[in-house]
Amino acid sequence: MKIPMVDSRAQYLALKPEIDQVMQQVCDSGQFILGENLQQFEQEVAEYLGVSYAIGVASGTDALHLSLLASGIGAGDEVITTPFTFIATAEAIVYTGATPVFVDIEPRTFNLDPDKLAQAVTPKTRAVVPVHLFGKPVNIPAISQLCKQHDLILIEDCAQSFGAHINGKMTGSFGELSAFSFYPSKNLSCFGDGGLITTNNLQLADTARILRNHGGKTPNGHHRIGYNSRLDELQAAILRIKLRHIDTYNQQRREIAARYSQNLAETGLELPGTPDYEHHVFHQYTVLSENREEIIAALDHHHIASKVYYPSPLHRHSVFQKKCRGVDLPVSVATAEKCFSL
Ligand SMILES: *Cc1c(COP(=O)(O)O)cnc(C)c1O
Repeated sequence: MKIPMVDSRAQYLALKPEIDQVMQQVCDSGQFILGENLQQFEQEVAEYLGVSYAIGVASGTDALHLSLLASGIGAGDEVITTPFTFIATAEAIVYTGATPVFVDIEPRTFNLDPDKLAQAVTPKTRAVVPVHLFGKPVNIPAISQLCKQHDLILIEDCAQSFGAHINGKMTGSFGELSAFSFYPSKNLSCFGDGGLITTNNLQLADTARILRNHGGKTPNGHHRIGYNSRLDELQAAILRIKLRHIDTYNQQRREIAARYSQNLAETGLELPGTPDYEHHVFHQYTVLSENREEIIAALDHHHIASKVYYPSPLHRHSVFQKKCRGVDLPVSVATAEKCFSL
């Protein structure tokens, strides 16, 4: 048997009676879309995250896409983001017709470097999409301040950071809008695809709600062209149960990460640091080494999975080469050559 990167089944088995019961209830109710479970989950998750509004959508990718659309981002606009992330972050920008502008990351945190952000701002820049990568909060106070200075919209990609916070303020509560994913491998996960948009702005919340449901406020009133992007009742019911356990799940991740850090301290690996003021939720425990390939092979020999997130920064992907700005990003390139997650 191999120790996997993630065991989605284990969490289900621990909660099986409760989850089976609510799934049965949803099936019996016959209400599968836009029902009570979604409404209650949205309320409960908004309260947990300390935001005014939460809008369930079909995926994290959609949460990003609809957040950008709700902000009025479109063709001719530039949106700054990190090249060291999952492809969906930049895909969502391209969907709107806008151009992703990649800014390099910091050497140690894997996250967007606020000091390099200002240089990338042009008259076309409309928004910044930082990612709290691997569950570690990005330097959002600095990025937030820069957005205010340049009148840019801040959209957080929280797909990997559910429950992470800075001095008690949750990731997903800093930006005009934020996007979460409940994909099965994420910290808070459902049994398929799912996502969430959060905001404190009523107008943006309304627009996001309209966009996720075919552009209409009422069943036959279509205000604009929208999308079919709802978080369904089964997923919402499961998420309501798991939300009650997310602090425990994240605490377990933090304890395991602390154990790794303690026991790997003398190995020469570069380990992920986390200052006291931030609550890192270790979606991944990612280290750096010049000898990555040998270590991965040795782990594999002992039936221990590990994975390279991310083997190549997005500006190096052919699909973005004609669609992006930002090409000289040495920290991202060097990090992609040495990183691997345990
Ligand atoms: C998973 C992920 C997404 C996309 O979420 P999906 O629910 O898979 O669409 C976006 N951004 C980041 C950083 C992610 O890790």
